Amino acid sequence: MVSGLKCPYCGFEGELPKIKQWKMRWYTVEMLECPKCHGRVNHYYGTTPTGKKSDFYFRIGRRKK
Ligand SMILES: [Zn+2]
Repeated sequence: MVSGLKCPYCGFEGELPKIKQWKMRWYTVEMLECPKCHGRVNHYYGTTPTGKKSDFYFRIGRRKK
């Protein structure tokens, strides 16, 4: 569950539904999609091999129709 995230595209506040999840190295990556504008954001989180916690968002753009 992801809550309290604000959509970086349209400013929608609330829960962005997770449409995909996968593993990349030590990260878990979730692809979230704004229910309002369909802008997509990847959420990377995990702990690196050096024990550092990492948690960040990466904009991947709006879905093209
Ligand atoms: Zn949005």
